[in-house]
Amino acid sequence: MSSAAIPPSILTFEQARHVVEEHAAKMHPTEKESLELLEGEGRVLAESVVADRDFPPFPRATRDGYAVRAADLVRLPAKLRVLGEIKAGAALDSRLCLHSGQAAAIMTGAPAPSGADAVVMVEYSSQHGDTVEITRGVFAGENIVSAGSEAPRGTQLLSPGTRLDYAAIAVAASVGRAHVQVYAKPRVAILATGDEIVELDVRPGPTQIRNSNSYSLAAQVRAAGGEPIILPIAPDEPNRLRELISEGLEADLLVLTGGVSMGKHDLVKQVLVEEGAEFFFTGVLIQPGRPAVFGRVSRATGGRNAVPPDCTYFFGLPGNPVSTMVTFELFARPVQEALSGMTVRKLVFLHARLKSEIKTKTGLKRFLPAVLSDEFEGVEVELAPSQGSGDVAAAVRANCYIVIPADRERIPAGEWVAVLMR
Ligand code: AMP
Ligand code: MG
Repeated sequence: MSSAAIPPSILTFEQARHVVEEHAAKMHPTEKESLELLEGEGRVLAESVVADRDFPPFPRATRDGYAVRAADLVRLPAKLRVLGEIKAGAALDSRLCLHSGQAAAIMTGAPAPSGADAVVMVEYSSQHGDTVEITRGVFAGENIVSAGSEAPRGTQLLSPGTRLDYAAIAVAASVGRAHVQVYAKPRVAILATGDEIVELDVRPGPTQIRNSNSYSLAAQVRAAGGEPIILPIAPDEPNRLRELISEGLEADLLVLTGGVSMGKHDLVKQVLVEEGAEFFFTGVLIQPGRPAVFGRVSRATGGRNAVPPDCTYFFGLPGNPVSTMVTFELFARPVQEALSGMTVRKLVFLHARLKSEIKTKTGLKRFLPAVLSDEFEGVEVELAPSQGSGDVAAAVRANCYIVIPADRERIPAGEWVAVLMR
């Protein structure tokens, strides 16, 4: 095997993330499918969803009370004559028109009569016969949403690239979309490497390790809207590794784990070089996940779904289970989301108050498994006790990662720290 040198390109976290986002911004899927609305949940919209009529379609009362003319309530209490009652779903009655001194009882969701410009809440009224006494004034427009003010007919309510969450599903339903066009899911090949790694149906020898990364990655791929393809485990041997990498490059994205560190048997980068890979980074100043690599291989026939169509992107993630999980979230997720058709999103951290002091070393930005506890506005965060990046059991006890800047050595309890939710 030749040993063409790979020029090392070690980036800061922010640089690496921007490189990934830049490439992701140029990717998008091409195939679409039509699904029943609820089947589209979690999928990425491949079309616009447009208001089929005005929203709201009529001037809508937002309170139970009395439709009035605001000018009639300048002097309080005011006595108005009640013309009738308007329920939600009532026909727009063109004969019911309020004049000065008149009111109509009205229910939430009912169409306001013409002539009315506000609704007084029932709490500020008392009706006796056909007269209502009102004790509180309103401004013109109060408690009425005018026709078309949320969205006039023809407005784009959802744009292609929107991932259909429950709010987007509500919008699609509100315009009568029983079916939606979504992008085909990207196929993401997952390749675990390492002589010590064995499949789940194999009884591991005393120094063998079961393959957990392929499964955590497959779950992460699914959560990000992709279709995982788990390849057989590749040994630390170039020929079989090359075969499996070739197979993985047929997918829309290839994610490898293990074999990217500096060890003598870490062959992944070398084999990728021989496959003609171009590397955008070969390491990131983070912990865990320092050896992570990102690149692409040009191919005559690229992935089914990806654009640009003539290459397949890959990530080589370090094999330590927590490193694999974290680096997928930080770097592979945006690429996978772009291949799913999603508009690339910025990564955001939230902040929480640190419960107990953290001491660490400078030089790497750290993403350490942590536990958010307490509730409501009282949330606090602290590191999950862990034996390091290999400790999957600790990863389960964690529900987030504390993000520690590369220049911090000690963070006292009580400080606000950045948190990446899991
Ligand atoms: P590597 O990145 O190949 O040096 O692997 C780092 C550590 O992660 C080693 O202790 C491996 O045994 C472990 N590891 C690598 N691949 C996997 C895997 N697929 N599942 C679980 N652990 C793994
Ligand atoms: Mg290995």
